Amino acid sequence: MPRYEYRCRSCGDTFELSRPMAESSAPATCPAGHGDTVKLLSTVAVGGRGGASAAPAPSGGGGGGCCGGGCCG
Ligand SMILES: [Zn+2]
Repeated sequence: MPRYEYRCRSCGDTFELSRPMAESSAPATCPAGHGDTVKLLSTVAVGGRGGASAAPAPSGGGGGGCCGGGCCG
């Protein structure tokens, strides 16, 4: 039996109910007894992120062989 999530607009609590799909839109009563509840959307699994190829390029900082070979001083 599917589970549906509801939120109580009176106390702000969220709760789940296991009920048939035919009754998914039927009024649900909060565990605290409030009747002003709304049905939340089912949790949908979202896809992962796309492959991003943004490798930082090394820049500056020397690293050449110049100063090591005596050409700079
Ligand atoms: Zn409530």
